[in-house]
Amino acid sequence: MTTSLESIEAGDGAGTTTTLVVNEIFGPTVQGEGPSTGRRCAFLRLGGCNLTCRWCDTPYTWDWQGISDEGKPYDPGRELVTRTVGDLHRELVAMDTELIVISGGEPLSQQRRLLPLIEALRADGIHVEIETNGTVAPSEALLALGPRFNVSPKLANSGNATHRRIKPDALRKLAAAPGTVFKFVCKSGDDLDEVADLAAAFGIDPVWIMPEGKNVADISEHLKGIADEVVRRGWNLTTRLHVLAWGDRRGV
Ligand code: SF4
Repeated sequence: MTTSLESIEAGDGAGTTTTLVVNEIFGPTVQGEGPSTGRRCAFLRLGGCNLTCRWCDTPYTWDWQGISDEGKPYDPGRELVTRTVGDLHRELVAMDTELIVISGGEPLSQQRRLLPLIEALRADGIHVEIETNGTVAPSEALLALGPRFNVSPKLANSGNATHRRIKPDALRKLAAAPGTVFKFVCKSGDDLDEVADLAAAFGIDPVWIMPEGKNVADISEHLKGIADEVVRRGWNLTTRLHVLAWGDRRGV
């Protein structure tokens, strides 16, 4: 039987030798956020981001001025590695999960080079979720492969200027893709008001609200502070399951 990877290799050969800039690949684990929370999956985290959120939980993918908890600067020479699609496909499939989550950083910054990988995974019958900040419009080729987009537009609390974090064309295109869900990082009623304005402006639905926080105490405090209002507004609430289970550890 021909595997999806062999089918790609039988073509012009370009697919499997395409390279991606990768931060980390790990699993099996579980999806920690949004509607698939708790679902067994593997993670591919790509390097680089076009935003600079002040509370970013993955600064090691892009913040080369940033300092780790161990007091060392993040080093792109250590954090980023260039790997072929064929190599990544083999490692991801070996984790034997029905779901693969592609995250970052901002993975859609590499969307053209992601195509052969997603094509191979979809041909294998694997569900693919792409976590994106909503500033990069997906191409028609990517939309045709049918990944689910988990879009997390950034609010004022991220510290990014509005013109950098809100890209109307990209948001509308993502909102129109079948299955897309939107997930907002919030910790106050003001944040929820901002979400309501964005949802009305861009036809955003369904809305998921996730508490801001990199540790159990912060997540719990913010969750309790917004939960009633999230339900009252008719939205969905998610926690950050991986942080509750494993703390602020990488690779889980
Ligand atoms: S968009 Fe995501 S990866 Fe990029 S800086 Fe913001 S939180 Fe970090």
